[in-house]
Amino acid sequence: MTDRRRVLVTGGAGYVGSHVVLALAARGDHVVVLDDLRQGHRAAVPPQAEFVQASAGDREALDRVLGAHDGWHAVLHFAALSLVGESMREPYRYLGENAGDGFALIDACVRHGVPRFVLSSTAALFGLPKTIPITEDAPVDPGSPYGESKWMIERALLWADRLHGLRSACLRYFNAAGADPGGRIGEDHAPETHLIPLVIDAALGRRPTLDVFGDDYPTPDGTCVRDYVHVSDLAEAHLLALDQLGTRSVVYNLGNGRGYSVREVIAAVEAVTGRSVPYRVVARRAGDPAVLVASSERIRAETGWTPRFSDLQDMVRTAWLWREANPHGFGDR
Ligand code: UDP
Repeated sequence: MTDRRRVLVTGGAGYVGSHVVLALAARGDHVVVLDDLRQGHRAAVPPQAEFVQASAGDREALDRVLGAHDGWHAVLHFAALSLVGESMREPYRYLGENAGDGFALIDACVRHGVPRFVLSSTAALFGLPKTIPITEDAPVDPGSPYGESKWMIERALLWADRLHGLRSACLRYFNAAGADPGGRIGEDHAPETHLIPLVIDAALGRRPTLDVFGDDYPTPDGTCVRDYVHVSDLAEAHLLALDQLGTRSVVYNLGNGRGYSVREVIAAVEAVTGRSVPYRVVARRAGDPAVLVASSERIRAETGWTPRFSDLQDMVRTAWLWREANPHGFGDR
């Protein structure tokens, strides 16, 4: 018998999931990663973790993995289709796959007696928010089937708590950014749609120009404002929220509580890299709220979470180091 905590991480080969796996493994937890590698990268999983190639909704694989041992400490669920725009074009695939996988996983946790569940959730639950900063009590009104699919899993977790005592932490991230400061892993999406890696690629000359989606928003410089939060700080938040899970389930919003505009991101990349970023202003992207900034007071107060990389330039620096050193990401696409 070992007294290392045994945790299952779905989507542990993806961007946020792999940073959480790294943090769990670093503190000595026994991590089993379940990932179908449709979007994740095998090389993002550290050698200390066990790896199983399967999707998060694969009941047979879940029964095999969870049934192989007693005494699971927790399941952390990251695996999901995660492109907001794509979800508007393929709503039922997003609703069906994301929610369906989540339900199958929750059901497996209940059947195998897993007592704790951490969900990778999203600020996309809040659609076009009426009040900034956004607290956990803000009205939920997802702006996309992607956001809706995460909300469906949050609701299922509420029932799993009521009916079966499965305690959960739903962590609603704002804009995950940056990379492991040790340079071991980073962000590698195909296609890449996120602002910071795209700005870095424009600075590196890997793309001709950055398209700024609108500069006529009601914000100080007219471009959208987002709350960027470093992926290693997100990872730390998962560990704290998991360790804190006791007699009740929780939801936490995760951001830095301060917003940066698209132009400020461009300026930060220019400052960090010493290169200029070619960009042009194009039409707004459908569905983009002008401002999304989190209130993370609750997780700070309840778990002591304090982001270490709250400065935008620090976030950009780690993303830059990873992207410059790994021009083809993990090199498997
Ligand atoms: N954005 C942009 N050009 C791009 C990608 C993103 O101007 O090529 C803007 C986008 O409109 C949003 C912000 O950058 O205001 C962050 O977008 P991202 O897709 O990274 O995250 P989101 O906030 O959509 O989750």
